[in-house]
Amino acid sequence: MNYSEKIKQLAGFIRQSRRVLALTGAGISTESGIPDFRSKGSGLWEKVDPMEVLSVQVLKRNPQRFYREGFVHFLKLENARPNPAHEVLGWLEQREFLAGVITQNIDGLHQKAGSQRVMEVHGHIRTGHCMRCQKKYPMGFIRGKLDTDINPPKCTCGGLLRPDVALFGDAMPNDFWRATAEAEQADLLLVVGSSLSVSPANSLTRLVERVAIINLEPTLYDYQADLVIHEKASRVLLDLKSQLEG
Ligand code: NAD
Repeated sequence: MNYSEKIKQLAGFIRQSRRVLALTGAGISTESGIPDFRSKGSGLWEKVDPMEVLSVQVLKRNPQRFYREGFVHFLKLENARPNPAHEVLGWLEQREFLAGVITQNIDGLHQKAGSQRVMEVHGHIRTGHCMRCQKKYPMGFIRGKLDTDINPPKCTCGGLLRPDVALFGDAMPNDFWRATAEAEQADLLLVVGSSLSVSPANSLTRLVERVAIINLEPTLYDYQADLVIHEKASRVLLDLKSQLEG
């Protein structure tokens, strides 16, 4: 099947489905200038292992290192802008083609692009909290502390502050369980920009009857999918939009 036949099939899947969900990963945000973890040559994560520096173990044992080598990269996400791929997902929801977006991303770009029903299964960078008393803090507060103090940011109670991002070694946030329940009700899952190598988020693909994968490179789940398109997310989603409008 050639590319344009695949786009027609994807549009057909969406029209035939009762309830469509998207599952997005870091690949949808690379066109917004945010490097993913696994594409070769993106530089940022080649020198440090994100599974190590973004882990609860490092946060607890060596908070200086967590904030210096891992957390600093979160701050770079704050000014990123959504790209056409995020925007088309917002449009699909507005036109009632899409029931919601399950995202592994923490960058908040789906909301910035107009998506209303977003489940952030790995948390987000809007807020943080105290590990001792659980008090919530806006991310701007944590950023401000880091600007003026070389020590890891602390709460008024003296507890260490941490971002509301699911770190390696953390329990899954409530949004993951919400996403699981939603996936059980869906009949089409549109995977966009994910290597599907992170569990348990990748297990959501097994809950949905039909799966379409849009990813630059092959994924571990391609062989199980009903449609696979190895292309840039923005190109595919813009072509899908034209097909649905036509
Ligand atoms: P991943 O890095 O494992 O995989 C990304 C995939 O996207 C790759 O297979 C790559 O081929 C593909 N890709 C890259 N650019 C693309 C494009 N323009 N169009 C289509 N596909 C493209 O990412 P993952 O599966 O999301 O897992 C990594 C984990 O790291 C997740 O938990 C994710 O939340 C987190 N992370 C998040 C961000 C973010 O919030 N933007 C950035 C880096 C990592």
